[in-house]
Amino acid sequence: MEEAKHTCKCIICGEMKGEDEGIRIVTEFICDDCEIDIVATDVLDEKYPFYIHQMKQIWIQRNA
Ligand SMILES: [Zn+2]
Repeated sequence: MEEAKHTCKCIICGEMKGEDEGIRIVTEFICDDCEIDIVATDVLDEKYPFYIHQMKQIWIQRNA
């Protein structure tokens, strides 16, 4: 049991993941699974606007 391990909440899927299971962007966290999904998502895909919307929260907070 590793209680010292930090977990981060992915802003895309909302799941709690270990710090080493994703990337940190400014204050936000995106897990590896979602990062792969975003990279693989075509701009014309219906999921793309959702990702952009979630990502925008990062920039809004950064500029606040
Ligand atoms: Zn995720």
